[in-house]
Amino acid sequence: MALRNIVTVGDPVLTKVCRPVTKFDDRLSQLVDDMIETLHDANGAGLAAPQIGILRRVVVINTEGEDWELINPEIVEVSEEQQTGIEGCLSLPGRWGIVTRPEYAKVRAQDRHGDWYEYEGEDLTARCFLHEIDHLDGHMYTEFAEKMLTPEELEELLKEQEDAAEDEDAEV
Ligand SMILES: [Zn+2]
Repeated sequence: MALRNIVTVGDPVLTKVCRPVTKFDDRLSQLVDDMIETLHDANGAGLAAPQIGILRRVVVINTEGEDWELINPEIVEVSEEQQTGIEGCLSLPGRWGIVTRPEYAKVRAQDRHGDWYEYEGEDLTARCFLHEIDHLDGHMYTEFAEKMLTPEELEELLKEQEDAAEDEDAEV
């Protein structure tokens, strides 16, 4: 396994639409392992392949103490109920915004062997599913954040949320 370099905003790779994965081989398996290692090293909640410069539809997520690998993920269903919260991105270090997203999302995705599964997520996990799938289509949360926070505003909000769900401020 190896750590990959995370690209930051301004790199055109973050604005491109990624191609589906068609080969479920050792190379893909290596990529997924490297992405999981890179995500853990960066202490993030989610990482999409374009964030390490690879234009393929691969996402890894670490929430609820679990690693999720999503190849060719598709959104199957989202709730009408919304969540509004702090969101960040490993490709935009040190910046945070307020983003409203569905509270619940169901996605369909392949694993590294090509088998299809359905995954359900609420709260931070749903937020990660949607944030990372946006990356695969070349989109950043900053495009639809209601507001980007100053460091002071962030500190104030975090204080307010101290008792709220942990991981709420994780970078995805
Ligand atoms: Zn991101």
